[in-house]
Amino acid sequence: MKILVVNAGSSSLKYQLFDMDTGVVIAKGNCEKIGIDGSITHKRPGKEPYKADVALNNHDDAIALVLKLLTDPELGVLADISEIGAVGHRVAHGGERLRGSTLLDDAALAYLNSIVEINPLHGPPAIKGIEACRRKMPSVPQVGVFDTSFYSTVPEKAYIYPLPYELYEQYKIRRYGFHGTSHRYVSAAAAELAGRAYDDLKIIVCHIGNGSSITAIDHGRAVDTSMGFTPQEGLPMGTRSGTIDPTVVPYIMKKMNLTADEVEDLLNRKSGLLGVSGVSSDCRFVMEAEAKGDKRAALALDILVHYMKKIIGSYIAEMNGLDVLCFTAGIGENDADIRARVTKDMDYLGIAVDAARNEGLGRGNKGEISADGARVRTFVIPTDEEFMIAKDTYEIVTKS
Ligand code: AMP
Repeated sequence: MKILVVNAGSSSLKYQLFDMDTGVVIAKGNCEKIGIDGSITHKRPGKEPYKADVALNNHDDAIALVLKLLTDPELGVLADISEIGAVGHRVAHGGERLRGSTLLDDAALAYLNSIVEINPLHGPPAIKGIEACRRKMPSVPQVGVFDTSFYSTVPEKAYIYPLPYELYEQYKIRRYGFHGTSHRYVSAAAAELAGRAYDDLKIIVCHIGNGSSITAIDHGRAVDTSMGFTPQEGLPMGTRSGTIDPTVVPYIMKKMNLTADEVEDLLNRKSGLLGVSGVSSDCRFVMEAEAKGDKRAALALDILVHYMKKIIGSYIAEMNGLDVLCFTAGIGENDADIRARVTKDMDYLGIAVDAARNEGLGRGNKGEISADGARVRTFVIPTDEEFMIAKDTYEIVTKS
C-alpha cells in the first residue's frame, strides 16, 4: 500500500509518498508560497529534483499539483491516484479529545475546527490541507496524527497550570505539549537501539532544533514535556523565549506600550537565540559568532545549555532515574558541541559522553555516544515524524 503524508502550513505543503511494503519514500516534495505566487520542488530517489514556479492560489491547487506530478508519465511514481491507499496528515493540535491518531471523519474535523481558537497558527492551514485532500480524493481515507496525542498519558499534576481552575474548565488553558510524534518515534527507536523493551525504560528525548522540547517517557508513557499551552513554553529556541516570569508580559506591555499581538510577536519571533545574541536564530551562525569572541552569542548558547540541563535534571528527579538520554532534530542530531556542553558534569546523574564517539558520529547518523561504563546510555537518533505518520495511518486503515 502507498501512503501519502501531508504536512500543510499556512503558505506551504510538504508531502512524502511511502511504499509501506518496503518502508521507502518513493517521492517527496514541498509546495511553497501558496496564496502568494507558488512554486514546487518534487523529488524522487536517484533522480534530478523537479522545480517549477506554478500559480498556487490555495491548498486545493497545491494538492491538485502534487497528485498531477505523482501520476505524471515522466516525473511520477504512480500509474493512477487510486494506488494511494490513505493520506496521513500531520496535525499539531488534537486538543483534549483527539488522544490518538484517528480517521478524519466529519466529527473529527468539526472538533478540529472547534479548537482553532487555542491553535490559531497551525490549526487553520492543517484543516485546509485535510479538506483539500478530501475534495481531491473523496474515496481515500484521511488520517490525522497529532503532535499532542503522545501526551495523553501526562498526569494532571503536570498539565494543569496553578491558575484559577476555571481557566482550565472554561478556556481549556492547560499544558498540551508538542513535537509528540518526534518524541514517540525517537524514544521507540532508542529502546530498539538499547536492545530493551520500551515499557521497561526511563527515557528522556531532547528534540533541539529551531523549535525545541524535552520529553520524559517513563516505562512507555510520556509523563512530562517542556512545551505547554503553546509551543512557546520551556526551552529558549531559535526565536522563541521559552519559559519566562509571566509578569514580564504585562510589565513590557505597559513600559513599551505594546499590544497583545506585539508582545506575542516579541516572545515568538524576536527572542531566544536571536533575541539574546542579536546575530541569528540559526545555531550555526550563533556558534560562529561565539568562536569569533561575540559575548552575547556565547551567552545565548550558555542559556540554551543551562535550560536543557535544568529540564533534564528535573525529569530525572520526576522519574527517579534514567536509562536512556536521546538527542534529535537539527541541533540535537548535528551539533556535537552542544551535546558535549549539555552532558558535561552530569556524571552525578549517570550521564557521561565519550568525546571521540560524540564528535565521530557523522552528521545525521544514528548511534551511541555514551562513555564506557556510563549508567545512562546516550544516543543520537535522527527523527522521522513522516515515517511515524505513515505507520499510524497504515495501521488505522488496515485495521478498519
Ligand atoms: P530543525 O528545526 O530541526 O530543522 O533545526 C534547525 C536548527 O538546527 C538550526 O538552529 C540549525 O542551526 C541547526 N542545524 C542544522 N544543521 C546543523 C549542523 N550541521 N550543525 C549544527 N547545527 C545545525
